Amino acid sequence: MKRLLSIALLAGFALTADAYGVDQPNILFIMSDDHTTQAFGIYGSRLASLNPTPNLDKLANEGMIFSSVFCNNSICTPSRASIITGQYPQTNGVLDLMGRINPEKQYLPQEIKKAGYLTAMIGKWHLKEEPAAFDYYNVLPGQGRYHDPVTRDSNNGAWPRNTTEHTGHSSDVITDLSIDWLKNRDKTKPFFLMHHFKAPHDLFSNAKRYDSYLEDTEIPEPDNLYDQPARGFGSISTRGIDDSLVDTIGASVSRRCNTWGLGKRLGIDEALPEPGFTSAVYQRFLKRYLRCVKGVDDNVKRLVDYLKEEGIYENTIIIYTGDQGYFLGEHDFFDKRWMYEEGMRMPFIVHYPGSIEQGSRCDLLINNTDFAPTLIDIAGGQVPEYMQGKSFKRTLLGEKEKEWRDATYYRYWMHMAHNLGNPAHFGIRTDKYKLIFFLRS
Ligand code: CA
Repeated sequence: MKRLLSIALLAGFALTADAYGVDQPNILFIMSDDHTTQAFGIYGSRLASLNPTPNLDKLANEGMIFSSVFCNNSICTPSRASIITGQYPQTNGVLDLMGRINPEKQYLPQEIKKAGYLTAMIGKWHLKEEPAAFDYYNVLPGQGRYHDPVTRDSNNGAWPRNTTEHTGHSSDVITDLSIDWLKNRDKTKPFFLMHHFKAPHDLFSNAKRYDSYLEDTEIPEPDNLYDQPARGFGSISTRGIDDSLVDTIGASVSRRCNTWGLGKRLGIDEALPEPGFTSAVYQRFLKRYLRCVKGVDDNVKRLVDYLKEEGIYENTIIIYTGDQGYFLGEHDFFDKRWMYEEGMRMPFIVHYPGSIEQGSRCDLLINNTDFAPTLIDIAGGQVPEYMQGKSFKRTLLGEKEKEWRDATYYRYWMHMAHNLGNPAHFGIRTDKYKLIFFLRS
């Protein structure tokens, strides 16, 4: 009787899923760390001429690319917490880098597992507690190392687990681990794999084989790289009241706010006069960043090649995103945190041949609380009511959403933290406008 009941439930489930043209596909969710939309070909920025992401561009050209996906807090841990819980930071409690998500609150893998999936989390986790809601995990401790990383896997002792040291660059190692898991998984179930690169997070350390990539290329500068307060640029929100924060606000490429010393950390001669100093820092910063991006892009191809080799490429939804945006010298900033476009926007690409129209573009106003509901919906699961985001599966299938938000919320909590000088702020963004309130020191 029990068996009959489960067969009946599965049949009903498949019917529902079939109505949308999706029958429990495998789900490969790839996320990198700080890979911003400016550093893609497909998003058409000033860097597109460098062809920085041919493999990701190909996925986007064969699938759907999103122009208006935003995080609700542009920093690693809170963004990841919203993805795992489908909730805003005020609800899941992860307001800053100290936040943690315990296994009881790892709702996304819990719900996808309930739908009959095998679940795995491989790479950068950064939510501190054991990723125990996944069937398998192999994660970097904290930020993890760029080279010869150690990982903690679910089969190796009690949490926080013994570590295993690997040889090589983290992007290559994490991909090796994912391919190994894919090869050896239980193939009787569909899978949900979260594959999280550490790259291109600072301080942008690439695999050795990319050392000469772009070496002789002049990286295009943003046209506002030199729009600095000393030259009259900025507003009260980036200069402070009566210019009180000009030397300390934000993280600059130039010497303006130099508490992090980007130039020094990148080995640029501090005696260089301006604008040569800013230009030299920018060139080295971007080359290192783009070399890391290249490593991510090449490893995405390795994952795609594996899916093809196993014959499951057509039956796997591939999603690529980054945990938030990043400033690549625009307005003289580097780093993220700001609610401005470069920090708040997340890249988002979905590839699923057969169900998603090739080359489609979407400008629906999405935020990272919507990822979990969408993934659960794709898997044929039930989206819990406590999730605050909404599924946009209809959009993926070329249909119109019945109702949708017209503004998305943002809040950065870490007032003037890390010597980067970003004030706490909160605001909303519509399709046309943005309203931001800044905390005064
Ligand atoms: Ca990040």
